[in-house]
Amino acid sequence: MRLRNVPGAKEEMLVNPFVVQEPASKKGAWAEVFGTKRPLMLEIGTGKGQFITTLAGQNPDVNFIGIEKMSSVLIRALQKRAEQEIDNLYFLRMDAEEVVNTFDKGEVAKIYLNFSDPWPKDRHHKRRLTSREFLARYEQILAEDGIVEFKTDNVGLFDFSLEEIEAAGWTLLACTRDLHHDTSMNGGNVMTEYEERFSSMGNPICKLICAPKKKTAEKEQ
Ligand code: SAM
Repeated sequence: MRLRNVPGAKEEMLVNPFVVQEPASKKGAWAEVFGTKRPLMLEIGTGKGQFITTLAGQNPDVNFIGIEKMSSVLIRALQKRAEQEIDNLYFLRMDAEEVVNTFDKGEVAKIYLNFSDPWPKDRHHKRRLTSREFLARYEQILAEDGIVEFKTDNVGLFDFSLEEIEAAGWTLLACTRDLHHDTSMNGGNVMTEYEERFSSMGNPICKLICAPKKKTAEKEQ
């Protein structure tokens, strides 16, 4: 993402009522932050927030958290959030590497990854949000039936993600390389800013849904 520095964005992160400060201190207690226990869903790399603000408005029975590391982008999501009268959406200005310090085992029902940065250089593969390193982090915080949903127009990143899912022993639950023409997977699809931009250029959108391997051995102990 080409970024313009937005003056005052960093300072706003420290005072905005929809940005949770010291998120690690809320580990295991996110229901208290929201004031009520509902399934908790994350979007990692939330960008300017169109996806998660729309989803939160549509699903008042779910608690949502948008995670974004860049203040200059997150500030745009906070502007959208301020226009909504909802009680089920907060944001964290945080690197996704911190998720295991921020959410307890089994605390998260679903993780959305939308148009994640591709990090095209091989030596940066661990930074890709669908790398086996990140899948291992997600596995630690996902509930028993927890899932990850991933959308991108980047075929190289999509192929890499499928390989990583297999290498990590995860289960691929659904997959399409042309979401907008896939009637079974496109139902209820909420478009992100990047999705609108790339699909309007004619790029097919790929989507997969996957889940960690079941912890049968652990359950039997
Ligand atoms: N999801 C949005 C969309 O589809 O329009 C934004 C996509 S943009 C290409 C990727 C976003 O992920 C950027 O805003 C970037 O700052 C954020 N991001 C990338 N790596 C991240 C990380 N490790 N932790 C948190 N955010 C990250």
